[in-house]
Amino acid sequence: MNENKTALVTGANKGIGFEIAAGLGALGWSVGVGARDQTRRDEAVARLRATGVDAFAVPLDVTDDASVSAAAELIKSRGGGLDALVNNAGITGGGPQEPTSVDLDIIRAVVDTNVLGVIRVTNAMLPLLRESTSPRIVNMSSSVGSLARQSGPGGDTITGPVAVAYSPSKTFLNAVMLQYVRELAGSGILINAACPGFVATDLNGFRGVRTPAQGAATAIRLATLPDDGPTGRFFEDDGEVPW
Ligand code: NDP
Repeated sequence: MNENKTALVTGANKGIGFEIAAGLGALGWSVGVGARDQTRRDEAVARLRATGVDAFAVPLDVTDDASVSAAAELIKSRGGGLDALVNNAGITGGGPQEPTSVDLDIIRAVVDTNVLGVIRVTNAMLPLLRESTSPRIVNMSSSVGSLARQSGPGGDTITGPVAVAYSPSKTFLNAVMLQYVRELAGSGILINAACPGFVATDLNGFRGVRTPAQGAATAIRLATLPDDGPTGRFFEDDGEVPW
């Protein structure tokens, strides 16, 4: 049990994020349910609390500077800092996303949420993470952002739709993460990326083949790594995802 630890999970009102919150809560963590919609947020907190999880609501829109600052203030006011930040919130941006015809506003929206949102939230939470004796950051990425799987040996493994906003947003996110790893080297903050597999959630119209709980497992493992655990790596259930 990690009874005094606190995590913030962004986009925790449903899908994989909800199950990450549930999983960390089951380990005895206090879990901030970061969510932008009050009704969905309160329902998720209530559902988690009903199972014995010490969940608390964190109003949070990752695209909004003021919302992100207020979320950091809320966690700061609880005292004790933050032990794990799970940057889970993400969008596909909808479609169509063929590069020759895409509406550039879709790309802007996806990058704002999936990349800039992570930077915004991470930077706001860093002072709180630095108060922890075992700080961890987990970014929910995707193997569709793996360049190696698209163009290298075995590059035929990506079979989903052409998605010039969503897939490169995860490549961008991974590249951003590696810059954090360089800047924060020696800080004790372990930062890793997780791919949940193809999970049945709203994100894909529930076409995924895995459950949200299965999709949450790698992120939970990375949020609870021991101090000598890896940093700057990209994991899925079966091991590492090539960049
Ligand atoms: P869902 O659509 O079920 O959940 C996404 C969550 O992100 C929701 O809680 C949503 O909130 C939240 N969110 C979106 N935009 C914002 C925002 N601006 N501010 C705060 N919260 C926001 O998707 P999944 O659970 O499937 O996805 C979770 C993560 O996993 C994403 O990063 C996704 O890219 C990644 N992933 C998912 C895969 C899958 O197969 N499902 C595969 C690979 C990666 P709201 O309810 O308000 O919209």
